[in-house]
Amino acid sequence: ASNSSSSSSLLQLRQKHYGKNAALSYKEPLHIVRGQGCYLYDESGAEYLDCVNNVASVGHANPQVAAAVSSQLGCLYTNSRYLSSELTSYCQELTDTLPEPLQVAYLVNSGSEANDLALRIASAAAAQTHPNTSSSSSSNSSSSSTPRDHVVVMAGAYHGHLTSLIPLSPYKFWGKGGEGKADWVHVMPCPDPYRGTNLDGAAAARAVLAEAAAAGGRVVAFFCESIISCGGQVVLPPGYLAAVYAVMHEAGVVCIADEVQTGFARSGDVFWAFETQGVVPDIVTMGKPMGNGFPIGGLVTNHSLAAAFAAGGMEYFNTYGGNNAAVAAGRAVLQEIRQQGLQQRAADTGRYLQASLLSLQSRFPRLIGDVRGIGLFYGLDIVTCPVTKAPGPMFAGAIKEAAKARRVLLSTDGPAENVIKIKPPLVSGRAEVDRLAAVLGEVLSELSAPDRFAQLQVQEQQHWQQHLAPLMAHYTQNEARLQQLLTAKAQQQQQQQQQQQQQ
Ligand code: PMP
Repeated sequence: ASNSSSSSSLLQLRQKHYGKNAALSYKEPLHIVRGQGCYLYDESGAEYLDCVNNVASVGHANPQVAAAVSSQLGCLYTNSRYLSSELTSYCQELTDTLPEPLQVAYLVNSGSEANDLALRIASAAAAQTHPNTSSSSSSNSSSSSTPRDHVVVMAGAYHGHLTSLIPLSPYKFWGKGGEGKADWVHVMPCPDPYRGTNLDGAAAARAVLAEAAAAGGRVVAFFCESIISCGGQVVLPPGYLAAVYAVMHEAGVVCIADEVQTGFARSGDVFWAFETQGVVPDIVTMGKPMGNGFPIGGLVTNHSLAAAFAAGGMEYFNTYGGNNAAVAAGRAVLQEIRQQGLQQRAADTGRYLQASLLSLQSRFPRLIGDVRGIGLFYGLDIVTCPVTKAPGPMFAGAIKEAAKARRVLLSTDGPAENVIKIKPPLVSGRAEVDRLAAVLGEVLSELSAPDRFAQLQVQEQQHWQQHLAPLMAHYTQNEARLQQLLTAKAQQQQQQQQQQQQQ
């Protein structure tokens, strides 16, 4: 009782002194005081299995990372204005994990900063290769003489919390409190292999480019995660990104792979998830696991884009970007991944996880519509009915809370918030997967009891009417508009061909 009263007074103090919309997880928030490996411990010493932390990738409180950072802090704290063998060695080690043209790194402090910088680089390159002479105005352009660059993103995407990135994040701008889509942003419908929709990447890419052209806009960048995270743990169909990149590159658009969630060995068989799609991005942005929690983000690009960015003449300075403590964290993470064989471990544990989840799906086909993922990046698409495949966010939320009561930490995501996210630290093994699967089995049995099931079905209906239907309408209206554009374009081409034949 004393623990819960201390938690409730902490909550009261927090509500007084900390921003209210910085959300807490779970209906009754946890007070975590210590972490180790894949486990977190609350103030009473209770142990929680962390199945959702892709920041503490080489393990909570990793001793090598902690030692590397504290030895730097005890000796020096400075920035990239001084020569540093640590900085250059780290950038060399980092770029060695990437394909040949990706050679030049910039270090920043978060995934958001990395994506913001990627946007600047793409705009700088476009300004040189195809100057924006269009006179089209845009609601967000501050000056009528400089029209805003256009950008393409995926439906459901989240790319960061900065003023530059909320407009690139349908997850936010179509979500609660969002202001809707800006006219300089074009949203590619996200493929959904489970429901069989939006699978043709090339067609979607042509449609968004047509939309931008109709608005007189110059598209400078295409942002896409290599496995879609906030958009619902979606594995892109084979060849999807290759088809999209081909269309984008033809139009001179810089392709940016946001690997903030998926990078650093999480996908197991490869170090970077874009490799599963057989593409080479122009810019790769990174964050989260890069310093195992110590703030460091970055991007790697090719010499030609880096030169275009530098050619603008403006110095790039970032007070903390590339500081020696962050670099030490980054190096320790790469070393831990290598020395502990964590990429292989992610692949092995990932296959075991997949088998466990598929076996759960065969026990509970009414609730688990789809099991999908790569390595240690998985999602369970929870549905209210396996025939209609209608999303079940109330069921998903109930699964998350009931698992937490059994001390297994999960979260939910996707535009409809119905996908259970599983992305544990890479140090997780079979014992952790067994514990997760046992708890999910108990929870799913509990929710399948007729009374509880019926109660949740009623909640789903209410939630659909009140919240989900208007939210999902943004996505379906966007799809319909793009489809109309494509149809109109095809008709136009057909008419032109007929006219040519008649001439
Ligand atoms: N990109 C993706 C895909 C992310 O998931 C996030 C964070 N959730 C970001 C960018 C932004 O990273 P940060 O919170 O470190 O700014």
